[in-house]
Amino acid sequence: MANKTKNLFWNREAETMPASEKKRVQLERLQATVKRAYENVPFYRRAFDEKGVKPEDVKSLEDLKRLPFTVKNDLRDNYPYKLFAVPMSRVVRLHASSGTTGKPIVGAYTRNDMEVWMEVIARSMAAAGVTEDDIVHNAYGYGLFTGGLGFHYGAEKIGASVVPVSGGLSKRQVMLWQDFRPTVLCCTPSYALVLAETMEEMGVGLNDICLRVGLFGAEPWTDQMRREIESRLGLEAFNQFGLTELIGPGVSAECICHNGMHIQDDHFLPELIDPETGETLEYGQKGELVLTSLTKEAFPVIRYRTKDITTIDPEPCPCGRTTVRMMRLAGRSDDMLIIRGVNVFPSQIEGVILEQKELVPQYQIVVERQRNLDQIEVQVEAVDELYQKDESEILRVTGRVQKALNQTLGITARVVIVPPRSIARSEGKARRVIDRRNLT
Ligand code: ADP
Ligand code: ZN
Repeated sequence: MANKTKNLFWNREAETMPASEKKRVQLERLQATVKRAYENVPFYRRAFDEKGVKPEDVKSLEDLKRLPFTVKNDLRDNYPYKLFAVPMSRVVRLHASSGTTGKPIVGAYTRNDMEVWMEVIARSMAAAGVTEDDIVHNAYGYGLFTGGLGFHYGAEKIGASVVPVSGGLSKRQVMLWQDFRPTVLCCTPSYALVLAETMEEMGVGLNDICLRVGLFGAEPWTDQMRREIESRLGLEAFNQFGLTELIGPGVSAECICHNGMHIQDDHFLPELIDPETGETLEYGQKGELVLTSLTKEAFPVIRYRTKDITTIDPEPCPCGRTTVRMMRLAGRSDDMLIIRGVNVFPSQIEGVILEQKELVPQYQIVVERQRNLDQIEVQVEAVDELYQKDESEILRVTGRVQKALNQTLGITARVVIVPPRSIARSEGKARRVIDRRNLT
């Protein structure tokens, strides 16, 4: 996709801070966060005491290693309000993760936390070339999910015109693209594909819309999927990363160089660890991302284990930003499927599917255990032209895809090509994996 966007900064001073100055700011903020958490949150006080560390022990950024980790279960155990470091009277907003199993994760924001959130999303949007002249079609879900309201407030901060559409009613969304003429689309990458498909079904072409920039995130997606979305919607796609535990979207985002996502590291301090041993890894190695909030008041998080696997590149980016960059996620350590002892990431399967022109990138991975043996089945949609052909042609494609999958995964996966539009579409995060094994 040709580069149609300008390199813009929302907060040039913060985003281009020299390394030594950055370290000073990070340490100062880390010390304040640790003190606030220790003094106000019984959970943190206990965890620090158990490790025999005190807030005063944090004398350099290196000392971060001495602090205890926080994991998702700690957040669940303290549901809903027990990790807050301020009285409820100072909380102006609550959000929660979708949490398909068990209790959701609750996020809380003081007025100042809201300012920080808008700031980091405004930086992410500006890095993609969004300005006050843009019309932003926001199809992230509104409500408890941080995506909708997060991008909404960030776009308003920039001064863009926000269309708060939320997810769903896809035909109406495409109608609004034609009538309201938005230039920026915000949604999950899987929903972007649904909208592309809807647009094609309605006979609406690229000349009928004027989308220029896409801000996609909240779920894993591949580079091939990016190219697919870019060509079908005629826009330049920018990866957006965040999580409810930290703030929601705005933790990191791509700039026009598309070489990883800039972490807003004056607000979120990143580390990489070995997910097995918990040992700190050097930037550049592949490991689990651990994040510490540096400015959050209502809900400080210390060394939160995201389970997201990535690497970090600390080299300054050609765009001029000095904020470190995290690479596209290689999956979540806990989303990783272990099939007959082999680690399988859904993104690998998606990569193979996207290479096949007879297939639509709508798929589901079903894992079952038959006679103690794991079986993996990939159900994927055919394009109309393939489905109209006779069965032998479908079988030929099935065989070819199966071979490609086996080569990539190192295990045998059954492939089933299903009719066009038969896999349920999602308006938010797609549910790609159905694991029918009872592993707990
Ligand atoms: P939930 O999914 O439980 O509602 P969140 O919305 O906070 O919670 O999800 C955060 C998680 O979503 C991250 O830890 C990460 O695994 C995933 N995620 C968010 N953005 C991206 C992205 N751009 N690429 C890949 N995964 C992402
Ligand atoms: Zn950059």
